[in-house]
Amino acid sequence: MDITYTPAAPARTTAPSSLAELTERTAGVVLVPGDEGYDAERSGFQTGRSHRPSVIVGAASAADVAEAVRHARAHGLPVSVQSTGHGLAAAADGGLLVSTRRMDEVRIDPEARTAWAGAGALWGKVIEAAAPYRLAPVNGSSPGVGVVGYTLGGGLGILGREFGYASDHVRTVELVTADGELRRVSQERDPDLFRALLGGGHGLGVVTGLEFGLVPVARLYGGQLVFGADLLDEALAAYLAWAEDLPDTLTSSVGLIVYPDLPVLPAHLRGRYLVQIRIAYTGTAEDGGRLVAPLRAVGPRVADTLREMPYSDAHTIHQDPAAPHAYDGDGVLLSGLDADALRTVAALGGPDAPMMCVVQLNHLGGALVSGGGSVGHRDARFLLRVLSPLDGTDVTAVRSRHAGMLAVVAPWAVGRSVNFLFGDHGDVTAEAYEEPLRTRLAAAKAAYDPENVFRV
Ligand SMILES: Cc1cc2nc3c(=O)[nH]c(=O)nc-3n(C[C@H](O)[C@H](O)[C@H](O)COP(=O)(O)OP(=O)(O)OC[C@H]3O[C@@H](n4cnc5c(N)ncnc54)[C@H](O)[C@@H]3O)c2cc1C
Repeated sequence: MDITYTPAAPARTTAPSSLAELTERTAGVVLVPGDEGYDAERSGFQTGRSHRPSVIVGAASAADVAEAVRHARAHGLPVSVQSTGHGLAAAADGGLLVSTRRMDEVRIDPEARTAWAGAGALWGKVIEAAAPYRLAPVNGSSPGVGVVGYTLGGGLGILGREFGYASDHVRTVELVTADGELRRVSQERDPDLFRALLGGGHGLGVVTGLEFGLVPVARLYGGQLVFGADLLDEALAAYLAWAEDLPDTLTSSVGLIVYPDLPVLPAHLRGRYLVQIRIAYTGTAEDGGRLVAPLRAVGPRVADTLREMPYSDAHTIHQDPAAPHAYDGDGVLLSGLDADALRTVAALGGPDAPMMCVVQLNHLGGALVSGGGSVGHRDARFLLRVLSPLDGTDVTAVRSRHAGMLAVVAPWAVGRSVNFLFGDHGDVTAEAYEEPLRTRLAAAKAAYDPENVFRV
């Protein structure tokens, strides 16, 4: 199959002068406040905040995106982008919002082991399209997350220790830069911009599609080992000791969750504080069973779902929420961690916390350490995250609790991961990127968006 993609480059070079002209030139939709469909278009997975742009271009093609950017530039409007809204941080008030959800094309080239995903494509669609060829993308825990937003922030996948960040697999980025030009960028063609986009890519343009490599994975040994709060201390200590010496073919994380006492939840979860150890291993089930034996030895499990599964079932490992909701979250990359500190974090986020705090600890290392692109702090050993739903909860109180929890691990903190900051955390460039990445990213921004058109 030939995957060569020839973008429909816009023939025009002049900007649409009025909204009417923009609408006429757009294959998708152009919406302003009060229009039917405006509210639905600006809404996304994160319901805690939403954009209130002066104009939304629901782009159906790369040409639509180019028209939108030219129009915005001609009218001095800042441009923001939304795909699924999973990572919505600062809401764009005023300005022009490019909504990419219609651009959800996915194509697989099984011989080249590559995929093309349009700006609005979700990971679930790529997983489904690649599976018949016994191939998989380097996706994360939730199939509902957008390919492009995830990859531009690096993309920490469920097989990260074996295959590195999603951005390490990108071959070509197609984007519209602030000058309204549609560009195809690769290592050969514009290496500086290409490198900046891979991990530092939010705010350099509107990406209209990505070509990236797939990995030969059709199945997994994976699932969760779930312990009750009575074994919390033992489980956390055992996990940290166990993570010291693992093959790169095993990627894991820990989730600490106080489940609400709701009838919609399975009885074994309702109202309980649980430790979930999530495992994804590409070796055999037999070897996987041997590897996790020290964790099973901690004691009886509330649930033990480790099993052989097709890769397309890998989303069951984390069981991320699929329904839109409001949330705020923060996280730090760590050079190490000890069991006492982790237990203190667990206590601060446990049943006595004034709001629900979901704590997650990702084990890094392996192939995540090396690679090009602009992912910051690749040598971190863990990522510790905390997230709270905002169902009427005061965000200031949430932030204060999160800050207290992350302060416990300050001795090991090396930086922050852009993909896991939920809510407006201001400019985190200094913490997300070490030198010389920071200087290179600043140079790319100055070269491709000198007027800061993509300032949201
Ligand atoms: C439930 C859940 C699970 C997650 N799991 C993981 C995980 O396993 N690993 C991981 O690394 N991350 C994970 N994330 C974080 C996620 O990768 C980021 O929030 C990512 O930014 C989401 O991208 P999106 O396009 O879906 O969301 P959006 O909110 O639409 O976009 C997020 C950001 O990307 C920018 N962006 C989107 N599309 C484009 C484009 N075409 N051009 C330029 N900029 C664009 C947006 O402007 C915005 O800044 C998860 C988030 C949630 C809520």
